[in-house]
Parts: sequence; structure tokens; C-alpha cells
Amino acid sequence: MKRLALLLLVTAVLCSDCGGGGTGGSPAAGNYKITREVMDTIVTITVVADEGSRDSAEAAVRKAFDAIYEVDRLMSAYREEGEVSEINRDAFDRPVKVSDLTFNAIKRSVEISRETDGAFDITVGPLVRPWRAAEEAGTLPAEETIKATLKKVGGADNILLNEEEKTVRFLVEGMRIDLGGIAKGIAVDRAVEVLRAEGIKGAVVDAGGDLAATGRDKDGVKWVVGVRNFFRRKGHIERLALEDKAVATSGDYERFYEIDGVRYSHIIDPRTGLPVQGAASVSVIAPDCATADALATAAGVLGPSRAMALVEDGRMFAGCEILFASYTHGFPDHLAPAAE
Ligand code: AMP
Ligand code: MG
Repeated sequence: MKRLALLLLVTAVLCSDCGGGGTGGSPAAGNYKITREVMDTIVTITVVADEGSRDSAEAAVRKAFDAIYEVDRLMSAYREEGEVSEINRDAFDRPVKVSDLTFNAIKRSVEISRETDGAFDITVGPLVRPWRAAEEAGTLPAEETIKATLKKVGGADNILLNEEEKTVRFLVEGMRIDLGGIAKGIAVDRAVEVLRAEGIKGAVVDAGGDLAATGRDKDGVKWVVGVRNFFRRKGHIERLALEDKAVATSGDYERFYEIDGVRYSHIIDPRTGLPVQGAASVSVIAPDCATADALATAAGVLGPSRAMALVEDGRMFAGCEILFASYTHGFPDHLAPAAE
């Protein structure tokens, strides 16, 4: 419960009432919203519906949640029956056939890995467990453990994808993938796709702060979301007006842990096998939530200047925006952590 409360504290906030009076909305239109707990976070889906279409809006939202449950079922590394678990068990021994959804998620992850020089790397899988254990025990893993585990981090080039057969194969023994850095984004995008197919014109799907806005709100204006400054606890750092755009945040307040007075993030640097140190909160605005989610994770590894360079080089991330809310490599004054 404590975890949940913290999560709510840091989540990006949807403020559909703070957009100002628009003119394009239908007078009877209202925002219709359902919240559920899924993927270890709070997911809220808000759709625009007028009085007469409440029932169909509710049905659309239910289907969108089903799409999110499906992504979770297939891609969680913690669900034995899921496809990612099957890949992790068998893909070194044989090609593992998966659904289009899982295949495309891995394919996208590999592409993003290449574009970020391996900073985003789903093959960090073997490192996730020792660091989770370290977090729980409050003691660092042995250096040899990390060194030995690093050998199993194959990198994107050691994932063999067969587009025709929809199979996944690992080329390094002991490899494991972990889609934790992109899965929420993929789930949000799937939910938006379902809502659109159901005829919903305006919606926000918010998975614990990783969100996408499609169309406009009930007043016919862009959806306004606030991304919080996680180190101030109060107030927004940025109000974003979004239409057909997504935003995701990595390294937020509740995702840090401390061992021996050092703050560690859940983001692991695939080159060193060590978690990113210090306190950074990175939000990314992108055309889709999977890209925003993955780029935010990558930016945590790369730091501000290398991450900004990726956006500026005009390739895969052209049109994305990166907001570094706070960074230990010198906080700008107005973003410095508030005194407790
Ligand atoms: P996020 O909160 O989106 O930054 O995701 C963090 C999660 O992504 C971690 O809990 C890991 O499961 C996974 N992860 C950690 N480091 C990386 C990395 N360098 N590349 C891809 N995924 C990562
Ligand atoms: Mg991410």
C-alpha cells in the first residue's frame, strides 16, 4: 500500500479541467474515466463521451484495458506462463515462436537499442535480479557476481529475429530479456489503438505517468497533463498540451533506492552492469508511448548531453523532446531538490 501511495504521488497528473475554454467540443460531452491497478501501477483511461454514448464508451474502455492486460500477460518477465518467460527459458536452445505483439515489441526494442548505442538494452535481463535482490537486502552484489552476469548480457545483436516465422532466438547462453523499460509504453499504445478502432475520438491512457493523448478533450482543446518535479513533491515542472502525442518518465522519485548512502536507479548501464547512480528524472515526449518510454530509460543511462544529441541528429528520435527534471550532474537552481 505504501508503494501504491508513493506511486500516486509521482504520477503525471491529468488535468483536463485546466486547459481553458475551447470551442470545438460538443456541449453534452464529458470525460468518462476508469482507473484500475495493472502492470504494477495505476492505469487511468479517460475518454470523451456524450450522454448518449456512455455505454459504448464504457465498452471501449473495457476493451482497452483488456489490451493492457494482454501486454502484461505476454511480456512480463515475472509471469511464468508469458511469452517473454518462455523466450527466457528456451530461446538459446531453440527458436521460440511468439505473437505478433511480442515479436514487434522485441523488434522495436532492438531498433531502439541500435539507435541509442546500446544504452537501451532489453538484454540487461540477467542483471535485473541481482540488483532487485540488492535493493531488498540493502547490500551491494559482489563484484564477481556482476562481472559474471555481464557475460550473459548479449546486447541486441545477439537476439536473432525471424520476421516470417515470428521467432526469437538467443545467441548467448544465459541471456534473458526484460521489457520493463518499454512494456508500459507498448501497453498504452495498444490501448490507444483499441480506443481509436472503437470510434473514440479523444482519450488519455495514463499508466502511472507513462501516457498517451489522442484527439482532444471534452472542450475540444488539447489534453493538458502536468509532469511533476519528483524532487519537489509539489507543483508541476511542466504543463504539456498534448494531441496525438505521448509522454513517459523514467527515474522518478519512487524508483530509487539507497545502499550505503548512495542512491541507485532501476535503470542499469548495460556496459558496466551497474545501476545509474544519483537522482535524475527524465521525461520524454514522443509520437508514441513505446518510444517515449524506451528513450526515457536510455536517456537515464546517457545523461543529458548525449541524450539531447540523439534527438538533434534527426534520425529515429526526431521530433521527440527530452525534459531532464533534475540531475545530480548539477541541478539548475530552480530544479534543486527541496529541503525535507
Ligand atoms: P523505466 O522505468 O521505463 O526506465 O524502466 C526501468 C526498467 O527497465 C527496469 O526496472 C528494468 O526492468 C529495465 N531496464 C533497466 N535498465 C535498462 C536498460 N539500460 N535498457 C532497457 N531496459 C532497462
Ligand atoms: Mg522506460
